[in-house]
Amino acid sequence: MRSFKYYAATSWEDAVAMLSKNAAAQVIAGGSDLLGWIKDDLNGPGAPRADLLIDIRTIPNTSYVKFDAAGGLKLGALTPLVTVAESADVLKNYPGLAKSALSPASPAIRNVGSIAGNLMQRPRCWYLRGKDFACYKKGGDFCFAVTGENQYHAILEGELCYIVHPSDTAPALIALNASAKVVGPGGAKDVALDKFFIGPRTNVLKETVLEHNELLAEISVPAPAANWKSAFIKVTQRDVYDFAVVSVAVAGQIEGGVWKDGRVVLGGVAPTPYRATAAEDALKGQKIDEKSARNAGDLTLVKARPMSQNAYKVDIAKNLIARAVLSLASA
Ligand SMILES: Cc1cc2nc3c(=O)[nH]c(=O)nc-3n(C[C@H](O)[C@H](O)[C@H](O)COP(=O)(O)OP(=O)(O)OC[C@H]3O[C@@H](n4cnc5c(N)ncnc54)[C@H](O)[C@@H]3O)c2cc1C
Ligand code: SF4
Repeated sequence: MRSFKYYAATSWEDAVAMLSKNAAAQVIAGGSDLLGWIKDDLNGPGAPRADLLIDIRTIPNTSYVKFDAAGGLKLGALTPLVTVAESADVLKNYPGLAKSALSPASPAIRNVGSIAGNLMQRPRCWYLRGKDFACYKKGGDFCFAVTGENQYHAILEGELCYIVHPSDTAPALIALNASAKVVGPGGAKDVALDKFFIGPRTNVLKETVLEHNELLAEISVPAPAANWKSAFIKVTQRDVYDFAVVSVAVAGQIEGGVWKDGRVVLGGVAPTPYRATAAEDALKGQKIDEKSARNAGDLTLVKARPMSQNAYKVDIAKNLIARAVLSLASA
């Protein structure tokens, strides 16, 4: 393994200042994703080598699950996934989020992996993670997935690059209209998670709006409205822990079995978590039944453009949306 320098940050401002001074620095939280990159010695414009690791676990008071005066949820960036998954308050008020935080990897990784790290983790495309493939994301001029093994790649919104977003908690948080507190040289700002992730059309080299010297410090989720329900379902290739082939998070206000308002978000199908606005629009004011739930799934996948080996994801996504929507009616 290559050597690197280590710095223990004492505050968010300290970490931001260190990043600003060091173009080859990266922050490390639990390290469950980042250390894999370092061990594999990946390099390129979209996968720069880290010569200096800035540890943000040493910043005080960054791991918490708490509620603000308005009843909204606040998650510190360094909160382990297991803490989110097992919080009685999260389970009661945001069951879809709790389930999504229980879903990544193994207990060991959920103990060490932070909620911010889960949102910021890099894509899992095997060509990207293979040292020998200089694809677009590593500054090359080719996407190996187009002509190669693409069974786990994007069926929606791929362009140049066909990664899928790997995070389970991202769709759940977007379905709940969560936002991120971003700290940078100019101070702190709030960014809706819906606008936080960017696809290859915007910039093929990165996956979020964060600049090199900006950090995700806290996640806020609005207080659940009356009759607000949420769910998360994930399909994987293997029965043991695995990334999503397709996942879906739904959150909706359901009154008398009617979908008043809500969000439907897919994971594992597009370079960013995919907000299924066609489903959301179609469900508004509708009684939730087999017909309206299936219609929501069908309308979402009209835009699917599968590759040579991943058309199977289209039917899975349609069915998962229908199942998740129906589950809210019976929750
Ligand atoms: C075998 C395995 C299976 C997995 N399966 C799943 C799965 O099924 N579903 C799923 O969702 N995930 C899965 N994961 C991913 C796992 O959830 C993440 O590795 C973990 O959540 C990352 O958190 P971390 O604190 O270890 O981040 P790190 O590895 O420390 O950091 C990850 C990235 O985020 C950046 N970063 C970290 N914190 C911040 C911050 N506060 N602000 C800005 N940037 C930051 C780092 O610089 C780095 O680029 C799996 C991982 C492994 C190893
Ligand atoms: S899908 Fe993206 S990351 Fe994977 S080979 Fe193509 S350009 Fe590279």
